[in-house]
Amino acid sequence: MNTDPNNPSGGHHGEFQAKSTHVPRPPYRPNDRPGNHSNNRTFVYRKDTSMQSIEHALDKIATPSTAPSTPVPQNQRNDRGPFHAKRMNGNRGNDRRRNDRNRNPERARFGDNPDRSSSHKDDVIPPLKPGDLRVIAIGGVEGIGAINMTVVEYRDQIVVIDAGFQFSDENTPGVDFMIPNTKYLEDRKHMIKALAITHGHLDHIGSLSFVIEALGNPPIYTMQFGAMIISKRHEEYPNLPALDLRIVDKGDAAVTVSEDLKIKFFGLTHSIPDSSGVIVETPYGDIVSTGDLRVENDDGVATQEEIDQYKLFKDRNVLLMTLDSTGIDKPGWTISEKVVADTVDKIIRDVKGRLLIATFASQVERIIEFLNSAKRYGRVVVIEGRSMKTNVAIAKHLNLINFDNIVDVEEMHKYPQNKIMMLVTGGQGEQYSILDRVSKNSHKYLKLEPTDTIVFSSSVIPGNEGTVDALKDALYRKDPKIITYYDSDVHASGHGKRGELEWVHKQIKYQYFMPVHGNYARLMMHRDLVENLGVPRDRVIVPDGNGAIIEFRENGTKMVVLPQKAPHETIAVEGTRIGILQDVVIRDRKLLLESGVFNIFAVIDERSGKLKKSPDIFSRGFVYIRENQELFHKVRGLVKKIIEDRTMDPKYSIDELKDELVEKVERFLLQKTGKKPIVMAAIVTF
Ligand SMILES: [Zn+2]
Ligand SMILES: [Zn+2]
Repeated sequence: MNTDPNNPSGGHHGEFQAKSTHVPRPPYRPNDRPGNHSNNRTFVYRKDTSMQSIEHALDKIATPSTAPSTPVPQNQRNDRGPFHAKRMNGNRGNDRRRNDRNRNPERARFGDNPDRSSSHKDDVIPPLKPGDLRVIAIGGVEGIGAINMTVVEYRDQIVVIDAGFQFSDENTPGVDFMIPNTKYLEDRKHMIKALAITHGHLDHIGSLSFVIEALGNPPIYTMQFGAMIISKRHEEYPNLPALDLRIVDKGDAAVTVSEDLKIKFFGLTHSIPDSSGVIVETPYGDIVSTGDLRVENDDGVATQEEIDQYKLFKDRNVLLMTLDSTGIDKPGWTISEKVVADTVDKIIRDVKGRLLIATFASQVERIIEFLNSAKRYGRVVVIEGRSMKTNVAIAKHLNLINFDNIVDVEEMHKYPQNKIMMLVTGGQGEQYSILDRVSKNSHKYLKLEPTDTIVFSSSVIPGNEGTVDALKDALYRKDPKIITYYDSDVHASGHGKRGELEWVHKQIKYQYFMPVHGNYARLMMHRDLVENLGVPRDRVIVPDGNGAIIEFRENGTKMVVLPQKAPHETIAVEGTRIGILQDVVIRDRKLLLESGVFNIFAVIDERSGKLKKSPDIFSRGFVYIRENQELFHKVRGLVKKIIEDRTMDPKYSIDELKDELVEKVERFLLQKTGKKPIVMAAIVTF
């Protein structure tokens, strides 16, 4: 069904050349729904909240007004945190379409899709020798550090850590999002014993429903909050088998997942409840994956709680540690989240009119603080943004907040202005978000007034500066009070800065270190940081892109970086298709975006070689046709001349003629306009 008002032809992907297959839709089986499965899987219970009760709770969590079957005014991607994904440049009006597609359950049907294989057939990875230990950075070490996935392999046993995804950006036009290349794992899926998830952010869980079947549905170990987000997302794919989710807690003993491997979770501080690090216990020591973290502090001094969280490393034998590199380029320590909460608490207390707070839905811990403040000062709260609503519902279910004063935006007018708080996404200027709509005066229930206050409890994601500026321009025209982190402590990153990363390195003693969650420059900066802390350079492995493989040999005493890489071509999800992102298609799309397309159509008399009529020319997105009649006239003349010159020779070839037309017209258009549209020629003879 075409739900895109901007694209009447519907999801047109005919030119997407990723080797992809359209898997026929399996019949809907109600028992596949996570809430209904009646199998005998075992669950590890935490406190009194079982997985079954989570499923029950998920059933009860009101489906937000932006349910998949309804028109979607809210961009699901409003909810990205900093570095969790970069926003697609929203000037093509296609966010609404993408949003619908992101929920298309038909798309998650590629469990045995053979087309994710590497095109680098010569990269033959040697079999792992018995007794050697292999670690692979499948994803997370390129770009902004999304698509996180790490593999630990020993003998015939594999543990996978995290399964993230990345939203498309201006470099990947037409793509919905990107997921890890799991070809290496698919070839060894019988060996996968567990998938361990560090926390519930999309760059760590986003691809789970898309890859889990291809990985053979291994048990997924994670803490409670992440488990609920995973379940909620997986509900959107009722055709897929239920997930085998097993909830663990940070205090729990290590779980034996195979003959030689155990996994253990430890608590750390990030921005979403139940953020954890994962320890894979191997015969040669621990492989520690910290996930994302920051360090709560008082003016650059770690709190006692932080010191306690890392105490378990005092007497552990850590063979390899990997650590978040997101904040490595920022000196010092992030401001404490407590300072942010206190600052916003005062704003919620003191503001005389309506209050709008824009933040990332991923900042769940902060949202909880804001709701507590609203309760303290008797404000009702309107929540807008699909993931924001879901996350608040989960937090309520887990008793992380006790707050019932949530009202619908339509009800808002019933309350005095100084008793209203709105918690919204859209701080990055996303189309159709509430901020976008109020800035354009197109929100049905909310018109901005100078007595309103807007707090941006968020940073500007690099690349979004222009869009955010445009949003603020439009908002300022209504002259509300606007508070940002430039003038007030209303935001801090969930990713630790240099000072915090240094501190973490001092808490965990390890033999080897691999920086992750960042682009190459950040990984190298992280290497330099630990070198300054006294870690020898040969003990630091900077992965050279996704797919990098390292091995520990000779009973774990020797580390080797393999020259081969695991398949690592980017896998794009696009409409109902999934496959390797083809550079040539992306290059064409960029050209089409920049210069448009120019088509020549000519009919030639087979016997005389003459044109039957003047050649037809069609163009889109190139130049304004009405103002360029002369240019088109000249191109027609040029085409006519080329054809008639060439067809003088009775043995001329149509293919060569087409190539010549394309080449010469391209050159002519470039000379005359300075633009290089995609030129195509079609010739018919009869
Ligand atoms: Zn995170
Ligand atoms: Zn992350």
